[in-house]
Amino acid sequence: MIVFKKKEELAHYLLSQKNRSIGFVPTMGSLHQGHISLILQSQKKCSITVCSIFINPTQFNNIDDLKKYPKNIALDLKLLENARCDIVYTPSSDDLYNKNEQAQNYEFNGLENCLEGKYRPGHFNGVATIVEKLLRLVKPNYAFFGEKDLQQLVIIKSLVKSIGMNIVITGCPTTRDENGLALSSRNILLSKEDLLYSSIIYKQLLLFKKNYLNTSIIELKNSIIKNLTKSKKIKIDYFEFIEIATLQPKLAINKETKYAACIAVKISGVRLIDNIIL
Ligand code: AMP
Repeated sequence: MIVFKKKEELAHYLLSQKNRSIGFVPTMGSLHQGHISLILQSQKKCSITVCSIFINPTQFNNIDDLKKYPKNIALDLKLLENARCDIVYTPSSDDLYNKNEQAQNYEFNGLENCLEGKYRPGHFNGVATIVEKLLRLVKPNYAFFGEKDLQQLVIIKSLVKSIGMNIVITGCPTTRDENGLALSSRNILLSKEDLLYSSIIYKQLLLFKKNYLNTSIIELKNSIIKNLTKSKKIKIDYFEFIEIATLQPKLAINKETKYAACIAVKISGVRLIDNIIL
């Protein structure tokens, strides 16, 4: 495994690998088996896998959230080495951003303003800014993103189309712990008790999946919100039944359309998101 800290060195190396298909997995580190599942998907499709580890400051609208974001580069490198990742790029901020550089302004036809966009203003401008920089640097054939961040996945597909890059954006299923909680770098901020309690999120998503075809969507949503708010630990930002292509909330079902239920909550102040594709 080769680790690069400088974009010129990474670009120079990748130029020498031009005839190989490149798979790319961008991350913010504090890696877990969810990230590793993306690396494994890349290895199945591509002959060389590049993983980046960079906590992107422009996607955090809350400075405390950025400061609290977990880091463990030594363990990350160990996990990537064990997974036989080929290349790791771990830049510092000034390798990717000029001094005082802000996120670019993107227009994603409203995809960026709903769900997470409502609660994290400017978040997707930050995400798109860093992903565009990284894609232009790595020039992968394939890039792998988790379905756990479904809105991000839909927006990245739209970004790649709009900038005209010939990259296949592949969505990968969510890896969960034994109780169904989606793995997330933020889970280590939860107490043991809250970690167990958080499995209620996936249980309610499964309940929605089981019933949405034969119950009124509004009634089902309300009863799930009621189930979730039984405990004072949990604060719901949203629970929405959406059409995946537009991310817009729906109340009726059309057989040809793909839907998901998406949720964001805070448990003892730790923000968790999840979804289920229906
Ligand atoms: P992050 O480091 O949180 O920015 O995530 C990097 C990539 O890993 C993103 O494409 C995420 O959607 C993906 N990812 C995060 N958690 C999971 C998970 N539990 N299962 C699958 N992919 C995930």
